[in-house]
Amino acid sequence: MSASPTYSPPKAVAAEKSGAVVCAVCSSSQSAGEAAANLYVCLACGAHARISAHERIRQLADPGTFKVWDVGLEGSDRLGFFDTRAYVDRLDEARIRQHLPDAILSGAAQIGAIPVGLAAFDFGFLGGSLSTAVGERLARAIEASAEARMPFVCVTSSGGARMQEGVFSLMQMAKTVAALHGLAERHLPFISVLADPTMGGSIASFAALGDVILAEPKAMIGFTGARVITQATYEQLPAGFQTSEFHHARGLIDQVVDRRELRPVLTQLLRVLSAPAGDIEQSAA
Ligand SMILES: [Zn+2]
Repeated sequence: MSASPTYSPPKAVAAEKSGAVVCAVCSSSQSAGEAAANLYVCLACGAHARISAHERIRQLADPGTFKVWDVGLEGSDRLGFFDTRAYVDRLDEARIRQHLPDAILSGAAQIGAIPVGLAAFDFGFLGGSLSTAVGERLARAIEASAEARMPFVCVTSSGGARMQEGVFSLMQMAKTVAALHGLAERHLPFISVLADPTMGGSIASFAALGDVILAEPKAMIGFTGARVITQATYEQLPAGFQTSEFHHARGLIDQVVDRRELRPVLTQLLRVLSAPAGDIEQSAA
């Protein structure tokens, strides 16, 4: 485990805060400062725009508390994969554009002054897909949280397995689940936050295993896309299929939380889940 002594978000993240931000759902526009202050939730229609991992950390961690883990851990192209382009070129391009070694940022932080392990996926990095490096960083972050006896919080925004890494990607499902087992053995909570989208191998492994599972409004959550299911089953799917609200109504998700409420809700949950039993009884009395 290597932790950087200080974390400063890349300059490009600050640059997101210049120019207008246009909502992808209703096309209304906000000034960059307004959008950032509103956590990239549309003021007109409430749509939650996808945000980078750096922005997610900015929104959730107490200012100045985030310390990145595994700074130098990068993935590689083990299969020599080439589709219309070489996988290594796609990786290099994503690293430069998203200012990340791979599709996840993890580290130690505080939320509401409570020390936690915190990880955030970046959908802009090859669809937030679960590469070997992402799985390794996630597993190490969970293990580091367990060692430090801290709760673990992960915000997932991931299309699932990274097809360019084939079976190596699928192995990350077992690895991350095994790491979470270690956290559970120490009676430490895992809070899983599902952002748009959380699909495939990610929801089929670690993301569905939170002691508490929260989701942002109208996030797409499921294993296989609705179109593929319809084609395979010839069934008419119910309205709102694979949304946060759909899963919440059926018990998969504990609470659908507006992004602007996410930090206070996490703080409250962490306080309750981290408190000794006597304290909870007292505060409930
Ligand atoms: Zn809108």
